[in-house]
Amino acid sequence: PALLAELGLTRYAAEPIWPSALVAGEAHYADEEARALTSPIHGLTLGHFAPASAGIVNLAIEAAHGAYLKWRSVPAPLRGELVRRIGILVRQRKTALAQLITLEAGKITAEAEGEVQEWIDICDFAVGLSRQLHGLTIVSERPQHRMMEQWHPLGAVGVITAFNFPMAVWAWNAMLALVCGDGVVWKPSEKTPLCALAVQTLVDEVVESMGTELVPVHPCHLVLGEREVGERLAAHPLLPLISATGSTRMGRAVAQTVAGRLGRSLLELGGNNAMIVTPSADLELALRAIVFAAVGTCGQRCTSLRRLIVHESLIEQLLPRLVRAFSSLPIGDPRYPHTLVGPLIDADAYWAMQAALQAAQRQGATLLCGGERVEQDVPEGGYYVHPALVRVPGNLEVVNEETFAPILYVMSYEELHDAIDLHNAVPQGLSSAIFTDSLREAEQFLSPAGSDCGIANVNIGTSGAEIGGAFGGDKDSGGGRESGSDAWKNYMRRVTNTINYGDHLPLAQGIRFDI
Ligand code: NAD
Repeated sequence: PALLAELGLTRYAAEPIWPSALVAGEAHYADEEARALTSPIHGLTLGHFAPASAGIVNLAIEAAHGAYLKWRSVPAPLRGELVRRIGILVRQRKTALAQLITLEAGKITAEAEGEVQEWIDICDFAVGLSRQLHGLTIVSERPQHRMMEQWHPLGAVGVITAFNFPMAVWAWNAMLALVCGDGVVWKPSEKTPLCALAVQTLVDEVVESMGTELVPVHPCHLVLGEREVGERLAAHPLLPLISATGSTRMGRAVAQTVAGRLGRSLLELGGNNAMIVTPSADLELALRAIVFAAVGTCGQRCTSLRRLIVHESLIEQLLPRLVRAFSSLPIGDPRYPHTLVGPLIDADAYWAMQAALQAAQRQGATLLCGGERVEQDVPEGGYYVHPALVRVPGNLEVVNEETFAPILYVMSYEELHDAIDLHNAVPQGLSSAIFTDSLREAEQFLSPAGSDCGIANVNIGTSGAEIGGAFGGDKDSGGGRESGSDAWKNYMRRVTNTINYGDHLPLAQGIRFDI
């Protein structure tokens, strides 16, 4: 109750079911059948949720579109003021927001706080950006003419997010969309609706505290539900951009629907991230990076390390150390400060992990350690597992798939070009890393013939990106870029203007058309 009170959610907790939507600050309740939401920590029920009906989803989309029509004319630096104040309130509520992430998504405290910190960081980034939404000035081929680009708000943005970053991924999208002058309608994962309600409540509180003179309209809206609600967003013509984060299967479906109406989609999908460890690598550094990237968030990050490609001269030395590190990890209740590995999100994730380990062994892999369920010294009802280390001869069929659990496949290589080939020979292309002290090796890995991922690191693991860079990957990872760099351009439309300040009408390409 104290946590709910701090997050402004007490008013809903007394009801038998939670709201299905928050539209313009108002709670909406659906008649659809409600389902229990359980915590991955102990399987206890946190509340009951019903998916938003088609009518409520349409209402939210229309509200986001209506908001855009007004919000687009508010000067961008004033839009930035809303985001600045959101950032202030998130700082004040950081601990409570992180506790809710832990309760609903099972992240350990440090990682949950890190996720809220990402929201704070993207607020700061977006505030600065609100004074830098600039285009080019381009010289014209015609006398007394000037060309320029302007970036205008795009419209209402539909944001669909995954369970494993229940706040940060929305924030990457929404904080940029807000300064860009867009409306937002958010469909979070059905596994993390409480986080979404807390986030939306915080934003609504800031909007209301600023008054209608500064913020004439609620720009952000929330609809809860499962796949069907996401499908409604993807199909709706009032959403020119759908930003969708989740599995490749989801991305393929969303992309086709959005393309069918010639909308724009920004896809952040699954990864199959690898690290190459070369003979000159600093092994102490590599070891720490491998363990954090492979088992952090219990292997449930899109950037989690899934494949380790080690030079054959190091494998005998590295494997026993990895087995020791994997076997001595503190696994358990994510609320305890010493825990490093919390639970899997649910039973399905556990069984998917078991299926992948069995398939790997059938296909010729050797299980070196881990994989089994932890039942001692962990809360009953949660799915806690020993992270698994699996020796594979190469990219087996199962290695090509993203299993969203802590499984690290280890393979060896002789020549760097073979390692890079192995690295790139999977359908996904999100995050990658090389550990080396050789400038040549590092530069080869970063070159056009090196890693084919959207993120390529040297002497840093695959997970834990900073918000300042553009985040995303290619191939089955979706092709979208979010967060820093120039990702803001996704949320705006580019207009090219040509201005004639002379008293003649010269035509481009020297065409003469005298009348
Ligand atoms: P998921 O694909 O099951 O669900 C993601 C979201 O999409 C949910 O809100 C879900 O309700 C919705 N959805 C599912 N099918 C849909 C459809 N056909 N149309 C519209 N919406 C649909 O993913 P998950 O299990 O929640 O998350 C894990 C996956 O997300 C992993 O593959 C992970 O790699 C990926 N992920 C990627 C990134 C990234 O930035 N690249 C970040 C986080 C997670």
